[in-house]
Amino acid sequence: QCGSRGGGSGFVGRELTRLLKSKGHEITIISRQPGPGKITWADVESGGLPPCEGAVNLAGESILNPLRWWNESYKKDLFSSRINTTRILAQAIAASPTPPHSWVLVTGVASYKPSLQTQYTEESDWTPFDFLSRLVKEWEGAGQLPENSAKKTRQVIIRPGAVLGRDGGAMKQMMIPFWLGLGGTLGSGRQPFPWIHVSDLAGIIAHSLEPHEGPPSTEPDVFNGVAPALNTNFEFTKELGRALKRPTIFPVPGFFLDVFLGSERAVILTQGQKVVPKRTLESGFNFQYPDLTSALKEIVG
Ligand code: NDP
Repeated sequence: QCGSRGGGSGFVGRELTRLLKSKGHEITIISRQPGPGKITWADVESGGLPPCEGAVNLAGESILNPLRWWNESYKKDLFSSRINTTRILAQAIAASPTPPHSWVLVTGVASYKPSLQTQYTEESDWTPFDFLSRLVKEWEGAGQLPENSAKKTRQVIIRPGAVLGRDGGAMKQMMIPFWLGLGGTLGSGRQPFPWIHVSDLAGIIAHSLEPHEGPPSTEPDVFNGVAPALNTNFEFTKELGRALKRPTIFPVPGFFLDVFLGSERAVILTQGQKVVPKRTLESGFNFQYPDLTSALKEIVG
C-alpha cells in the first residue's frame, strides 16, 4: 500500500510517516526539494500523481515563524504555500487514471470565530471573518474535487488545534522560556486553547486514510483535530509549568504579542475557540492523549 504526501517532511508529516510505515505502508513525500523517497510539486504538476491509495496535504509556510515579520509578503506566502499545493494535489487526483481512495487535507480551527462561550463542532456553520478564517476558506475550497472525481475519492478535511509534540510546532518555541521559568499565561489566559497531541493527529489522518465503506459523499467529511478536553490558556500554562516543575508567574500581555507578531496572527495565541471533536469521536477514533496531563507527560517526560 502506498500514499503520497505534501508537507511530509514537516513536524506532523514525520509523525505520520512513522505511523504509516509501522503499519506497513510505503510513502512518497511531495516536497519543494527533490531527494530519496521524494518527488517535487513540479513533478506532480507535469507528470501527475504516482499510483497511490491515499493522498494527504500537510504543506504550508509556518504561521508562527518568529523570524518572519508580519507583512504582505509573509501573508502572501502563507496563502500560496497552502492553496497552490492543495490545488496541485486536487487537480492531480482528478486527472489520475487510478485515483487514491482517500484525499485528506489538514487545515485548522481558525475557521471558527474565537469566543469564550460558543462551542463548535464539525457541524457548526462558519463564514470567514478575519485573515486566518479567509485563509482556511480558500484552502479548503482549493481541495474540493470535481463531482465525478468525488464519487471515486473520499474527501476528508481535518481541522487541528495547536499540535503539541516534542520535536516541532508550538512546544518547540515554548520550551526554552518555560524551562527558564519565564513562561506565563498569554493575554487574559481565559481564552480557550484547542490542542492535540501530534500522535493523535497522525492517528486521525491514518484513520481517515483507511478505506471507507459505501460510495464517498461529494462533500468532504470534516473532523476536528482537537483533544476532547476543553482547556483554557491558563490551564495549559499551569499544567506545563507543573510538568516542567517551573513557576509560571510572568503573564505575557496581549498588546506585546499584537506588536511582536502582528495582531492578525497573534489571535492564535490571545484568543481561542472551544472546539469539540464530535464527529472524530463518532467515527470511532480513540484518543491516546485525551487530556493535558497525559499529553504533557509524554512530551516533557
Ligand atoms: P511544518 O511547519 O512542519 O511544515 C510542513 C511542510 O510544509 C514543510 O516540511 C515544507 O516541506 C512545507 N513548506 C514549508 N514552507 C513552504 C512553502 N513556502 N511552500 C511550500 N511548502 C512549504 O508544518 P506542520 O507539520 O507543523 O503542520 C502541517 C500542516 O498542519 C500545515 O499546513 C499547518 O498549517 C497545519 N496546522 C499545523 C498546526 C501546528 O500546530 N503545527 C496547527 C494547525 C494546523 P518541504 O520543505 O519538503 O517542501
